[in-house]
Amino acid sequence: MERVILHCDCNSYFASVESIGKPAYKTVPMAVCGDAKSRRGIILAKNELAKGFGIVTAETVYSALRKCPHLLLVSPQHGKYTEYCKKINAVYEQYTDQVEAFGVDESWLDVTGSQHLFGTGKEIADELRRRIYEEFELTISVGVSFNKVFAKLGSDYKKPNATTVITKENYKRILWPLPARDMLFVGKTAADKLAAYGILTIGDIAGAGADMMQTLLGKTGETIWAYACGMDESPVRHAGEPSPVKSVSNGSTFYRDLVSEEDIRAALLMLCDNVATRLRRQGLYCTTVQVQVKDPLLKVISRQRKLPAPTNATRTLVQTAIDIMRASWKRGSPIRLLAVSAGGLTRDKTAQISLLNDGGAVARSERLDDAMDKIREKYGKEALQFGSTIRSDLKSGAKEKE
Ligand SMILES: [Mg+2]
Repeated sequence: MERVILHCDCNSYFASVESIGKPAYKTVPMAVCGDAKSRRGIILAKNELAKGFGIVTAETVYSALRKCPHLLLVSPQHGKYTEYCKKINAVYEQYTDQVEAFGVDESWLDVTGSQHLFGTGKEIADELRRRIYEEFELTISVGVSFNKVFAKLGSDYKKPNATTVITKENYKRILWPLPARDMLFVGKTAADKLAAYGILTIGDIAGAGADMMQTLLGKTGETIWAYACGMDESPVRHAGEPSPVKSVSNGSTFYRDLVSEEDIRAALLMLCDNVATRLRRQGLYCTTVQVQVKDPLLKVISRQRKLPAPTNATRTLVQTAIDIMRASWKRGSPIRLLAVSAGGLTRDKTAQISLLNDGGAVARSERLDDAMDKIREKYGKEALQFGSTIRSDLKSGAKEKE
């Protein structure tokens, strides 16, 4: 039986949530931005009127104000975004128990089995748009299709406040002319590479064939090709089913540039401690460590290292991160942003080789981690910190990402 899947996407989510109960916000160009006084002065979201001035997400407040000097700037209230996300998904769950949230403002719904109760996919989509608007003053765009990838492309196709139905009959006409970049997993690098071979649209991806796509982009290339042809069998997860965690990372923009080795060490310790604690809490071990560095000119480098054995020990993560930095960062060049990511996650802690050949240092370090975790559980996160973290004046709101 052909599946019926909806992808619901809230339009200008942050800006729209900020406007709830504030009709004046809807009448002027408005943007949500991080702290305008520090480096976090970046546009996070904008309303339709601000879009009209050419303001785009992730540009600096400085550049946005040059395009629109009377732009109204609003600080983000993250708690509110989560609160409305829950309310909106609760509405979706009245139509099916298969609701899979993707980020804070997008969800897939499998309504295959709900049609006899609520009507066709399109009718459910239209009803959801009406209800979300009436109940929360928010608009959503909905894509309706026979798989998740096409449903997502559908919700993007027409917005705000629209329903787009992608069928087996019309997908070539509607989706194939779209730029290759619109396809899931096609980032800028991949898009550039494809363009060099004349693959410019989603239709071109389908036409290139599986082998060609695999030659160009590896295993992902083949997946992208299958998606372009409408082959995506991935199920919509049930509400509340945890998503498989691919990596655990922690990054921070610092209030001043990091320059000295001591600075960098303190920052890495803080980031790795956060990452390792979260790994341990979830019973996960990582097999790779990645460090990402951004300099004041926003140049980014990213380096990864494979570990000899799976671990979640803070000490091993820190040491690996320091090694990566020593090998790839020029001593003395300033750092604006630093991030550590633990990948290649596994629940299986296979043979701890290092335990045998490092004289038990890892085992001791793990006991220390255990003890720290227990104290934090009991007395809170701030109860215990490494000496160099406390001394450092670098602490800034680090961002957790899974
Ligand atoms: Mg959205």
